[in-house]
Amino acid sequence: MTCPKCRSSNVQRLRGYWEDLPAESPNRRRFAPPDEPGVQPVVALLAVIVGIAATVSGEVLAGLGITVAGLVWAAVLQRQVTAYRLSLAEYDASVICLAEYYVFA
Ligand SMILES: [Zn+2]
Repeated sequence: MTCPKCRSSNVQRLRGYWEDLPAESPNRRRFAPPDEPGVQPVVALLAVIVGIAATVSGEVLAGLGITVAGLVWAAVLQRQVTAYRLSLAEYDASVICLAEYYVFA
């Protein structure tokens, strides 16, 4: 495999390059894999459960509000997880040219 930009054959898988970097290297942040979303969509389901419980116990308006908010929140979190998976797949497919630190897929 060669770099599409400078034709150098001094290329390496981006993940392998990053894993071999020493901890103090300034390139560790620059070439790090995407950050995993901090909150899992399942957390939003707790809000939905609380909302349903409130609706059943007579707090209908508040309960429905919490339920809808929980569902919207779950959808947002799910979208973050999907975006993360896409960028992670892209990262894992990437190759770095060590002659000029150019990243390509
Ligand atoms: Zn190159």
